[in-house]
Amino acid sequence: MKMLLVILDGLGDRACKELFGETPLEAASTPFMNFLAREGICGMLSPIEKGLVPESSPAHFEILGYSPFQKFYPGRGPLEALGIGCKLKEGDVAFRVNFATVKDGIVVDRRAGRIESVKEFEDLLTTEIDGAEFILKAGVEHRAALIIRGPDLSEKVSDSDPHKTGLPPKKVLPLSPEAQKTAEILNKYIDFATETLKNHKINRERERKGLPPANLILLRGAGKFREVESFKERFKLKACCIAGGGLYKGIARFFGIDVIKVEGATGKKKSDFEAKFKAAKDALKSYDFVWVHIKAPDLFGHDGDAVGKKSVLEEIDKAMQALYEVNNIVICVTGDHSTPCPLKNHSGDDVPLLFFAETVRKDLTPAFGEKFCMLFGGLGRIRGKDVMNELLNLSGRAEIIE
Ligand code: ZN
Ligand code: ZN
Repeated sequence: MKMLLVILDGLGDRACKELFGETPLEAASTPFMNFLAREGICGMLSPIEKGLVPESSPAHFEILGYSPFQKFYPGRGPLEALGIGCKLKEGDVAFRVNFATVKDGIVVDRRAGRIESVKEFEDLLTTEIDGAEFILKAGVEHRAALIIRGPDLSEKVSDSDPHKTGLPPKKVLPLSPEAQKTAEILNKYIDFATETLKNHKINRERERKGLPPANLILLRGAGKFREVESFKERFKLKACCIAGGGLYKGIARFFGIDVIKVEGATGKKKSDFEAKFKAAKDALKSYDFVWVHIKAPDLFGHDGDAVGKKSVLEEIDKAMQALYEVNNIVICVTGDHSTPCPLKNHSGDDVPLLFFAETVRKDLTPAFGEKFCMLFGGLGRIRGKDVMNELLNLSGRAEIIE
């Protein structure tokens, strides 16, 4: 049997005033997910441990079976770098980069007016300092990744990003004695970048048009890349990922999971969900395990837009109906954490979860939603690290423990 894991990012929620006390999933009309819940078995998911509030990446590590995530997690920098297609080598230190605008020593725009592309700066900002190679790769809009390659590098350094405007950029500081040299060369690199960007023709042109110049790079999320056991080795499954967001593609590549390119998949509020589920249906012909990631519910949660979250879940449900004709499959639908609209942030509340398969032991859950999954969910509460085990079990692929 094939397996399909659908992660609706930030799915879980709390009672929303605008929805008369229901959650977006409860209020949404989702006939297909209700069918899967009714014909399957449901429960509640604690992505890491009961009550812990995860960011998306550690939660995904747990759900994809790389638990405890601390043992495998390389930090955000390498994952984002892999997400934009960088090739990393063992020991590389990687950062997330924002091109920003600095004026009189103060960061006035952390995104340089959301500049369309920073591709033109790639080659100029790829250099060598004190025996270390610096490679800059452009991402979407103002985003990029920086990779440092060389001997004795440490990822234990602070961000240069002040994380808000109105402050000067920070110096990179060593967070441990062995990171002294890395911090030093990073500060040299930042100065080099500032000098290079200052009078660049793109920036002069932007200033002429009254646009904020991209005259500063802000570094954050340092991490060191190392190879981990691939998903294929770990679970004996040929796997692929369908996602719009760079981080999720990066997580997939980190585990050696193929990333399927889908036109119209954005990782934003508006994305071509239909195209994603059609691609999933196709991928199931040649892959054992397909992971679909949808970012939109989390983004509506952060905006506190309960009505928007409800509508997007309805849109997703419609697109998911493409799976109705797929046979011989185990489907799991859940989220990586809750992003309650009243909170506008992630919370430690459990997330509704369903497993559908023709062979599954059914419970009495009448529809997919927080209350129903809590009340009727035959699986009770499970943790992120149980998801892969359950998928293997239901698909008849679990190995007997002796
Ligand atoms: Zn998330
Ligand atoms: Zn979020």
